[in-house]
Amino acid sequence: MLIGVPKEIKNHEYRIGLTPAAVKEYVTHGHQVMVQTNGGAAIGFTDEQYIAAGAQIVDSAEKIFAEADMIVKVKEPQPNECKMLRKGQTLYTYLHLAPDPQQTELLIASGATCIAYETVTDARGGLPLLAPMSEVAGRMSIQAGAHYLEKAHGGSGTLLGGVPGVAPGKVLVVGGGVVGTHAAKMAVGLGAEVTILDRSIPRLRELDDIFRGTVKTVYSTVDAIEHYSERADLVVGAVLIPGAAAPKLLTREHIRNMKEGSVVVDVAIDQGGCFETSRATTHQDPVYVIDNVVHYCVANMPGGVARTSTMALNNATLPFGLALANKGPKQAMLDDVHLLNGLNVHEGKVTYKAVVDALGKQL
Ligand code: NAD
Repeated sequence: MLIGVPKEIKNHEYRIGLTPAAVKEYVTHGHQVMVQTNGGAAIGFTDEQYIAAGAQIVDSAEKIFAEADMIVKVKEPQPNECKMLRKGQTLYTYLHLAPDPQQTELLIASGATCIAYETVTDARGGLPLLAPMSEVAGRMSIQAGAHYLEKAHGGSGTLLGGVPGVAPGKVLVVGGGVVGTHAAKMAVGLGAEVTILDRSIPRLRELDDIFRGTVKTVYSTVDAIEHYSERADLVVGAVLIPGAAAPKLLTREHIRNMKEGSVVVDVAIDQGGCFETSRATTHQDPVYVIDNVVHYCVANMPGGVARTSTMALNNATLPFGLALANKGPKQAMLDDVHLLNGLNVHEGKVTYKAVVDALGKQL
């Protein structure tokens, strides 16, 4: 199969669909790979590395879209990319179609087979191609929080780890899933005093086992949120109710009652945010202050560490991508229901129920 990897064109998107190492895997399995000139240059993957891995470097996206059997990307295709897709071609990337009727219409019109990373599943009911980005965002949330706690960055001037003789900072993590666990790992690593709230008791049990006494696990109630947020130096919002907007767990009043110069990082902002005062920000302008509390609400946190994110994403997408290439998309999806769950649009029809429900398209 001929695999095409265009350079991402969304504003400030530096990730790329395949790393040189992933290209080498496809080539080793007998496939050909075309990569657009300088596709990974911004994150240190040079054209020379792609050539060494066996790729052909092509200078136009048009040629890649015209010739490749499967396009591998990171972000949803932009309108001019959608218009280059065609029947018989497979698109393998993040799509997020439910809130995006324009892209959905364009993918329907293309006739292509479109597989969305975010809806591929695994045997444990997880989302294996979304999880690596949650791991990245969770770990970054503490790094960002620690940065903005510094006085010069608007914070209270608190060092999360403290020092001998000075108590550490207090971190509250609301939601103990993938993001929350990785946030807690980083915070514990820095020496902070960490509390995780979740409303799933089985999850609290798992966290208790993972952290073996280095974090406090607390059942999530309004009372707990009130109690721990008032004392926290840093609050990380990491809840998810699948398919729904995030619940507003910290109200304006909770924020008002926090310590001056404390920081909130709302990782759930891509689902609308779980603090009442959250609004989406960007890497260019990541923070704003409300009631003396610094808010960091970047909607695409993994984009800030595009090199690590690209490698983490490739580790997860590669096995499914190889199955698509080795068996052909139809057989690969017939063989693996988890990959089939990724199918969102096929030959002019929406094939994913949540997108149908959101947009009223035909299944
Ligand atoms: P997850 O499903 O692994 O974890 C969510 C957790 O929230 C679960 O453990 C669940 O029990 C818990 N929860 C639900 N309601 C709760 C409540 N009322 N109180 C406390 N806990 C509650 O999800 P995840 O992968 O950790 O993702 C969390 C959020 O981060 C999602 O909205 C995801 O889209 C977002 N995210 C954002 C970025 C970004 O760049 N901003 C990147 C990756 C993920």
